[in-house]
Amino acid sequence: TGSEEVHEFKTETKRLLDIVSNSLYSEKEIFVRELISNAADALEKLRQTQSVESDVDSGKPLEIRITLDREKNQFIIQDFGIGMNLDELNANLGTIASSGSKKFLEKMDKEGASKKENIIGQFGVGFYSTFMVGKKIKVYTKSAFPGSKGYCWTTDGQGSYTVAEAENVAVGTKIVIDLRDDAKSYSSQLEIDSIIKKYSNFVGYPIFLNGKEVNVIEALWTKDTKSVTPEQHQEFYRFIANAWDDPQYTLHFKTDSPLAISSVLYVPEKHMELLGEQTKPGVSLYSRKVLIQPESAGILPHYLRFIKGVVDSEDIPLNVSRELLQDNILSRLRMVMTSRVLKWLDGEAKKNPKKYDEFFMDYGQFIKEGACTDAMHKRDISKLLRFESSKSENNSMISLEDYAARSQEGQKRIYYLLTPKRKYAEESPYTEMFKKKGVELLYLYDTVDEFVVNHLKEFQGFDLISADSPEAAKDPLLQMERDANSQALSDAEAQDLAKWIETSLGDEVVKGVDVSRRLNSFPAIVQEHESPAMRKMMQMMQGSAK
Ligand code: ADP
Ligand code: MG
Repeated sequence: TGSEEVHEFKTETKRLLDIVSNSLYSEKEIFVRELISNAADALEKLRQTQSVESDVDSGKPLEIRITLDREKNQFIIQDFGIGMNLDELNANLGTIASSGSKKFLEKMDKEGASKKENIIGQFGVGFYSTFMVGKKIKVYTKSAFPGSKGYCWTTDGQGSYTVAEAENVAVGTKIVIDLRDDAKSYSSQLEIDSIIKKYSNFVGYPIFLNGKEVNVIEALWTKDTKSVTPEQHQEFYRFIANAWDDPQYTLHFKTDSPLAISSVLYVPEKHMELLGEQTKPGVSLYSRKVLIQPESAGILPHYLRFIKGVVDSEDIPLNVSRELLQDNILSRLRMVMTSRVLKWLDGEAKKNPKKYDEFFMDYGQFIKEGACTDAMHKRDISKLLRFESSKSENNSMISLEDYAARSQEGQKRIYYLLTPKRKYAEESPYTEMFKKKGVELLYLYDTVDEFVVNHLKEFQGFDLISADSPEAAKDPLLQMERDANSQALSDAEAQDLAKWIETSLGDEVVKGVDVSRRLNSFPAIVQEHESPAMRKMMQMMQGSAK
């Protein structure tokens, strides 16, 4: 065998190891989940590689074997998957490769060690989770590509690791963990059996524990929709979404046309998207229970990235290459899935409007993003929007459908006002006549709302019109009646006054001055001024020009 090389861990890695090795007891067990998921990934990679390069082979079944040694206090996991060559070994286990670990470290920096509870579990620090339980870790691995050599990678987690060539290494990866004294329970069969069932129920490859097959592989989406219990959905959701909450909405559906689809989809209790950071797509594509594309960006449009789930379509051929997935079938699948999801949310809204309002408070930004970007599904998306209105009580929200349904006789428009606060809107001269005439007015508080209404333009034949626009000023529904006894100016006098104001202000200040009957207690208002979003943009541009 070749000589042994000693390598230092990167600083980042050392830090992670340090945190992880001091983890809470309750979190330690997730190392099992992480190692199984790596093994399953390795088997999946082998399976996919084999379909294009048939000489890549492990000569062994696609399965995961876990062996526990009570005497030696060891946990051993082996897969006959893709394995690693020397470069991969150094790159993958010596540095912080996984996005989970990166996120974890960032979170630790932000919140400090005090809030450590459960975050290792939530982020999944991958391979490094073995250091919660191991005092010494050995990784034997051999790549499945022909002509590869076997290696042994070993460390005590104290700052360095060694790599050496090794004889008699099977294709795939075998990890031997010498358990710490405080982690002896992980060499107990009973304990590991229950951990596997807790976390790894749906892994697509058989898991053997001390020679006995453990996991029940249950592709939940293939089951009869009525036979799946909420508890099963919860478990499945948590597994696929890597989450610890409960789904607030669940959709399990099957259809045969225009494509054969079985799918389960979930909306998480809360979305996890922070400002400036976008959630990855959460729906994976399967064909006949075989994973085709994990967390695929192709199945749903970007704005529906908060949805987690599985889509299985028999119409997607097995062994299809990733390039081929760009074709026709995928775009048809995407069409079907998108309108199904939008109809699903609309259905939930009608079933329980209050619950939907809460959903919208949290997820509205995604729906609005859709309203601005997905012209094809504009109709369905617009039904999902909610706004406060001059007639909604206690800050409750209404839909555009609600507005249309209770609009006035002859009303052709849905009126809105962009405003930072309800209070401002209610005191604004622009809203005076709406109040007086009982014409409902939507209050739009979000900067993005302006883009939303500009994109929608109309809803069910109603034009979306701003309350401060000239069109609004001319709407017969919004005119002040003339009081015969009033001392108001005559029409001609009013026109003269307007003309005089216009020339006095000059055309650098105003485009024009009109007489209008839309005001009662205010003398004049500015009309057709730039929008709040426009103003913000101008300010930003001026700011950056300085
Ligand atoms: P992640 O799985 O999120 O990429 P991990 O820390 O769990 O992060 O693993 C890091 C990398 O190490 C993996 O991406 C993979 O390339 C490699 N790896 C880990 N376990 C195995 C294994 N059993 N077989 C082959 N490669 C593995
Ligand atoms: Mg992993």
